[in-house]
Amino acid sequence: MTIATCIFCGAKKHGGLTTCGECGKHPTGAIQVGKSMVLTDHFLDLDGLKLAGEDIRAGLDVFTLEPALQQLADEQARVFEQMSDPEFRRNLAHTDCQGVQDDSGDDGSH
Ligand SMILES: [Zn+2]
Repeated sequence: MTIATCIFCGAKKHGGLTTCGECGKHPTGAIQVGKSMVLTDHFLDLDGLKLAGEDIRAGLDVFTLEPALQQLADEQARVFEQMSDPEFRRNLAHTDCQGVQDDSGDDGSH
């Protein structure tokens, strides 16, 4: 299970994109999703997540403080935007179509 820090209130939560049990918010839109992805154990160790949480609780913007994190967040936001782009998904389906079938149930039984 992914350990994450809420980008809104700094609380520890499970999963980068889940609803926070503390403040009840969840990331919407590419920018918030990108930041939320960075504040997970995929990018930061537990100490880093804890520190980020403390900064957020103190009202600091960890992404302004750490340009490297901002850069990662931008990259994640781009990935998210591509993933939500139908054309990009179609291209993905073409490069690796095994198992990524659309459930268009139009195959006759024989
Ligand atoms: Zn929160």
